[in-house]
Amino acid sequence: MRTHSIAIIGAGPAGYFAAQALQTLQTEQLKFKIDMIERLPTPWGLVRSGVAPDHPKIKSVSKVFEKIATTEGFRLFGNVELGKDISLSELEEIYDAVVIATGSSVGRKLGIPGEDLANSISAAQFVPWYNAHPDFKDLEVDLSGRVAVVIGAGNVAIDVARMLALDPKELDPTDTAQYALEQLHKSAIRQVHLFGRRGAEHAAFTSPELRELPKLEFTDVFFDEGEISAAQQRASSTGELPRDLKTNLEAMAAISKADKKGVDRRLSLHFLSTPLEIRGQGRVEEIVFGINEVKGGKVVATGKTKSIKCDLVISAISYQCLELPGLVYESGKVKNTDGRIDQSNSYVVGWAKRGPTGVIGTNKSDSSEVIKLLISNLKSPKKGLDLRKILNSRKITFVSQKGWEQINNAEVAAGEVLGKPRVKITDKQEMLGFAG
Ligand SMILES: Cc1cc2nc3c(=O)[nH]c(=O)nc-3n(C[C@H](O)[C@H](O)[C@H](O)COP(=O)(O)OP(=O)(O)OC[C@H]3O[C@@H](n4cnc5c(N)ncnc54)[C@H](O)[C@@H]3O)c2cc1C
Repeated sequence: MRTHSIAIIGAGPAGYFAAQALQTLQTEQLKFKIDMIERLPTPWGLVRSGVAPDHPKIKSVSKVFEKIATTEGFRLFGNVELGKDISLSELEEIYDAVVIATGSSVGRKLGIPGEDLANSISAAQFVPWYNAHPDFKDLEVDLSGRVAVVIGAGNVAIDVARMLALDPKELDPTDTAQYALEQLHKSAIRQVHLFGRRGAEHAAFTSPELRELPKLEFTDVFFDEGEISAAQQRASSTGELPRDLKTNLEAMAAISKADKKGVDRRLSLHFLSTPLEIRGQGRVEEIVFGINEVKGGKVVATGKTKSIKCDLVISAISYQCLELPGLVYESGKVKNTDGRIDQSNSYVVGWAKRGPTGVIGTNKSDSSEVIKLLISNLKSPKKGLDLRKILNSRKITFVSQKGWEQINNAEVAAGEVLGKPRVKITDKQEMLGFAG
């Protein structure tokens, strides 16, 4: 029997699904010892710090992660950061293979004048702020103005726009960070405008996200009826529409025609608008867009512009990897061939490999394919040092699976009394305290 030791870096969906694939592919002759290394004291990646708090069902995938984590041969090393506490070359020395699953956490910049004004922020900051990520708890978000603009036409942009536009009492029973919930309750924002650069037919929303918009109890949602029907015509002129696109456009058309409640919280979605400049004296006051049109299937600038007075701009136009030492990056992703990094015994999965595309489930098939390749390239097992000993010798406090379960129990218990799934701890030292 051969037992191989595998390090997985990053405790998000891609990392857990990589571990699950290893566990599933074990045989009597081939066993795996899996060490998962995570920079935060808490695991689950974007399931904890990305998925919107008003989508608790989606977070139930964490039960799958916990099953993987409590299977024999799995160890969690939370609060350990690749590139700071341990290097890739050290891990490559110790383990038979290393799987990078560190996601992509840096918001892509708009690259326009005024982007650095106060109250112009990225979804890559705003989302982890409302989700209690310890690195973002002190982010300054000023919600005292009336109008917010969100740039982007994907699900992250919709999440951000919805979180700003809904009545925060809809968030009371969720695990939204307590400090964010307090600020959202005081928020003066009543109009949220989302702008996409291309047409409605090119938007990357998925229809469940669209279909839930009219269900917001205290917010009216607007699409321009003419804009959506023009998009439907353009899209159908090229032949039969793919099913997803058809349902998306139908969902938008239905919202555009639906009766409104007449409430003062409004969320309006617009297309064919490229942000050109954010203006203001030290802080966001106005944003200027170039107006686009679709010609011959291509999105082109008309040369006309429009502007809108606003108090907050949040860009949600994609993510790229935070570059880690020892890895080569290409187009914001770790350079790889089918998941393998430069013919080495290191591999990459998830958003670090593919970029920010797909839903949580997409990472399962992706990780599984990469793990099959990893197994096919394994040689004889090494007798590497134990990571635990190395971390102890460096006096690095790490959070084991048991330690994480203690943090988890504390959060869930604090939530129970308030009728919430949990109250997230935002301070790393406090987390470490609970982890013992
Ligand atoms: C705002 C938002 C909302 C989303 N909502 C949904 C949704 O509703 N439904 C859905 O299906 N999908 C959703 N997704 C997509 C889903 O979250 C991703 O597909 C998935 O999380 C990608 O998994 P990953 O493991 O590659 O990355 P991540 O989830 O980002 O996990 C990466 C992990 O690596 C850790 N890490 C990073 N650097 C290091 C380091 N140097 N050392 C150690 N650890 C490190 C991070 O802390 C993190 O825990 C959403 C994404 C975002 C951004």
